[in-house]
Amino acid sequence: MNAPGRVEPIIRIRAVTRAYPMGDTEVLALKGVSLDILSGEMTAIIGRSGSGKTTMLNVLAGLDRPTSGEVWFKDQRVDLLNERDLLRLRQEHFGFVFQSFGLLPLLSAAENIGIPLRIRQLAREEREQRVQEALEWVGLTKRSKHRPYEMSGGEQQRVALARALAAQPELILADEPTGQLDSHIGRQIIDLLQRIVREREMTVVVITHDPQVIAEADTIYELRDGALFDSQKVYG
Ligand code: ADP
Ligand code: MG
Repeated sequence: MNAPGRVEPIIRIRAVTRAYPMGDTEVLALKGVSLDILSGEMTAIIGRSGSGKTTMLNVLAGLDRPTSGEVWFKDQRVDLLNERDLLRLRQEHFGFVFQSFGLLPLLSAAENIGIPLRIRQLAREEREQRVQEALEWVGLTKRSKHRPYEMSGGEQQRVALARALAAQPELILADEPTGQLDSHIGRQIIDLLQRIVREREMTVVVITHDPQVIAEADTIYELRDGALFDSQKVYG
């Protein structure tokens, strides 16, 4: 990819609202949010519990639809896609990492990483190659046959990262990826996220309370009660 591509927004969110019905009334989880996620950056989204961070990530990733407003992935209107196209968009372009790792307990590390590739019906050889490469990249080649309960939290999260990477997405979306880890173990995950941006030229969006992640992010946005603050401008 050439240099100018790295400053293009990969995601553009315009005047997005998301209202959840609540009895006779509604909760407005996002109140007209606009932002750009720049390609080749690590963007952190911070904010208190209940401020709308997960709602934002879901809308951004096409896991949820905004009540109003627009979500763009490059030149595509995500909020207008049908379920089938949304699924394909997520499978082919987005990788997900969650606080609780989300690994299937009865499957080995390698099998967990391979599942999304099976779902996409990639050829066996291609799958095996991608799984090995991803395991190697997160430093867990020797753990390939281990099940989640045989691994530490940090190792499980590295498997989850490998699973996201193996799909070769353009954008990795992580919701509190270090939330269940000790800070020194969390550090390894942050270092990997950084290397994903620097060495693999992917874009990373992290929802986080972790000061270590915030310190490493290229751009920081803060959500307060469903509205967006550009923290670097607010506090910088
Ligand atoms: P955060 O991730 O920052 O903790 P969320 O995006 O999960 O915040 O939630 C934002 C607001 O929307 C909260 O007030 C929450 O209670 C509400 N909310 C989230 N999901 C739902 C839902 N499915 N139904 C009703 N209200 C919801
Ligand atoms: Mg949340």
